[in-house]
Amino acid sequence: MTYLRNKSILSILSRISLVAVLIAAVFFLVRATGGSKYVFTHTMYIPILLAAYFFGAPGGVIAGWIGGVVLGPLMPISVSTGEMQVLTNWLYRLIFFAGVGAMAGLLFSRLNKRNDEISWMAQHSLETGLPNYNHFIDSLRKAQKEAEPGTEFALVVVRINDYSEATAIFNVEETRALSVKLSRMILCLTPDEARIYHHFSHTFFFYMDLNQYSLEKIKAHIERNFYKIERPIQINRIPLFFKFSIGIATESVEELAPSSLFRKANWASNLAAAQNLKYAFYEPRIDQASRRTQRLLGEIRSAANRDDFELFYQPIIQLTTSEVVGMEALIRWNHPDLGYLQPSDFLPYCENTSLIFLIHDWVLKTAIKRLSDWPDFKGFVSINLSTRLLTDGQWIDTLVKLLEAYKVSAERLVFEVTESSLIEDRAESVRTLNALCDLGAEVAIDDFGTGYSTFEYINILPVQYLKIDRSFIESDTPSSKSQAIIKSIIQLAKALEIKSIAEGVETQEQLDWLTENGCDYVQGFLLSRPLPIDRISLWMEEPPSNPSR
Ligand code: C2E
Ligand code: MG
Ligand code: MG
Repeated sequence: MTYLRNKSILSILSRISLVAVLIAAVFFLVRATGGSKYVFTHTMYIPILLAAYFFGAPGGVIAGWIGGVVLGPLMPISVSTGEMQVLTNWLYRLIFFAGVGAMAGLLFSRLNKRNDEISWMAQHSLETGLPNYNHFIDSLRKAQKEAEPGTEFALVVVRINDYSEATAIFNVEETRALSVKLSRMILCLTPDEARIYHHFSHTFFFYMDLNQYSLEKIKAHIERNFYKIERPIQINRIPLFFKFSIGIATESVEELAPSSLFRKANWASNLAAAQNLKYAFYEPRIDQASRRTQRLLGEIRSAANRDDFELFYQPIIQLTTSEVVGMEALIRWNHPDLGYLQPSDFLPYCENTSLIFLIHDWVLKTAIKRLSDWPDFKGFVSINLSTRLLTDGQWIDTLVKLLEAYKVSAERLVFEVTESSLIEDRAESVRTLNALCDLGAEVAIDDFGTGYSTFEYINILPVQYLKIDRSFIESDTPSSKSQAIIKSIIQLAKALEIKSIAEGVETQEQLDWLTENGCDYVQGFLLSRPLPIDRISLWMEEPPSNPSR
């Protein structure tokens, strides 16, 4: 009798009483309205259906039967004359009531079963059958209500780091089998007193009341059992190794918010993964920094609309002629509260979002608009491209439209790409760069010498500049190794009939050395820091007369 399962005696008794009271009420109603010859006998369906809902088919049949008797041999056809009903009459009604009760009971049982299934699914992981995040939220809220003041709760998140890579080769059933095996494995990290939860495929977690199980004990338990989860798991006779990272966060009952506790522990598990630790604790200081980044990302769209971004320009100078041949466009964010933000404060975080396209569109528009109205500068403007822009070249349509709209020739643009960005999706990157060259723009390899320098891509890419990374130039006189590298890059550029540009030139000694060794162009603080447009125009009026002396 599944419908009686999980119901307390009290609730069963109160349900029985309710049905009984209703049956009695119908009896008195029919009596008071003159007997069974009137339509009020149909009111008996209400307690019958209710009994069927509460107790399924047996409940429906019993209520139908009792209702049939109450309105049968115990009820006259007419109260005023006292005439009783014939047997066939009330028996037929009794059978009908019991039949309706049985059918309704069956129907309700099915519905209740389905409802139970749905609520089970809402509270459990379908992969492992373990309780899920919703279950955790309900359970921790309940624990919070019952906890004494000052109680601390700890949440431990165990994340499987390389889950998607491992499951890429498996079908759904195999992946499910893997999840079950993983959950069993992770169970050994969970103290007996805790219940383990499963969230998405690769996250398991449990929480503990620290009054009952101290943080020290949790740590000791994890340390003691960690080796057990590092053993391989066999799926289809393939031994799989996983890396786990564990994050721990605590909150006192007064400040506890289950979702925030989960977020913190999850965050700590990311920290453990990033730092290659078995486990890590939530650190509010670092988290605040990432929240600041999150806040910044949320503001980027409006910053672009409000023109809070600015393009700074840093001149690139030809050593033999001292002529300003180009300007590198470098973005800055003039944030209303935080002041000027450097690209490293926000650009790397935009890389994995479509915001990078938004920023790039803004950079393109600003640089091209400036080029269309920059009478005292005839050189090129170089624009940095991050990986995403190389692997998804759809923005080139926008570029073409902007060049047409502002009547600027693509030949005045150089696009800078780093070596490391080229390895992501080589075919797509080559396509993007070729499309830029077809328009007439040029390509520079930025930070040359720091990435995966293979000459292969110089061979297949339309490259016109090699920008020697600043790390080789950094010291006053470059070390003998750096000197050898710089010289060979300059020679390589000459052999390929392309230009070498030295970045990060800060001292006259560096400049002299680069001049002696035949570097074509230089860029660095010695000549000018990156400057906003009004200041760069002033600088252009009086550039250093002869930087190479
Ligand atoms: P990068 O393209 O290698 O840019 C050169 C960086 O070196 C700039 O830093 C510049 O300010 C700095 N620099 C120039 N001369 C010197 C020097 O003499 N000494 C020293 N110590 N530093 C010098 P910045 O502006 O912070 O830019 C950092 C990176 O951010 C850039 O490296 C570039 O990769 C990226 N970036 C900047 N603007 C944009 C942009 O609009 N779009 C994209 N996708 N990336 C950008
Ligand atoms: Mg650059
Ligand atoms: Mg660079």
